[in-house]
Amino acid sequence: MMATTHGFVGLAIAAAVAVIAPELAVAAAIGGIAGGIFPDLDVLAEHRRTLHFPGYYTMVALPALGLAYVVTDVVTVGVATFLVAAAVHSLSDALGGTPSAAPWKSDLDHGVYFHAADRWLPAKRWIRYDGAPEDFALGAVFALPGLVVFDGSIRYLALTGIAVSLVYTVFRRPIGNAVAGLE
Ligand SMILES: [Zn+2]
Repeated sequence: MMATTHGFVGLAIAAAVAVIAPELAVAAAIGGIAGGIFPDLDVLAEHRRTLHFPGYYTMVALPALGLAYVVTDVVTVGVATFLVAAAVHSLSDALGGTPSAAPWKSDLDHGVYFHAADRWLPAKRWIRYDGAPEDFALGAVFALPGLVVFDGSIRYLALTGIAVSLVYTVFRRPIGNAVAGLE
């Protein structure tokens, strides 16, 4: 899935925090968006492996949630939201396509690397590839709670993210085919 889709999922998690604790809304939004996007920075290294940790983020996110519950402030809530968003990102990448330039023509079945078992989880392809129309639609749905709950710069950031997703979706296949030397 697109980094923006994961960012919107992080923002939706933050929207839930904002409803419960409005004074922590901004910390949760920053943590959720950053944690949602962070794993995909490994596109510069080994994508879906170097910074994707489906197991370890989850293992660390659970005690972080407990700490944020006991000691509730902007730091603990921001960190917990970051880790939950990064865990959901890493887990949900197994539901998408492969990390290839042209996943629609790829024989690869890698979804995301599961470090604890030292192997790749297979790509389920419920979302066929990052930048697929269904990826854009999913991202737009997850953006909705954030657009309702937040205003100002966070809402503006979410709207910008939707525009970026749309442009990426429109050009994903031609660029992927060109990179893979297909057409
Ligand atoms: Zn990812």
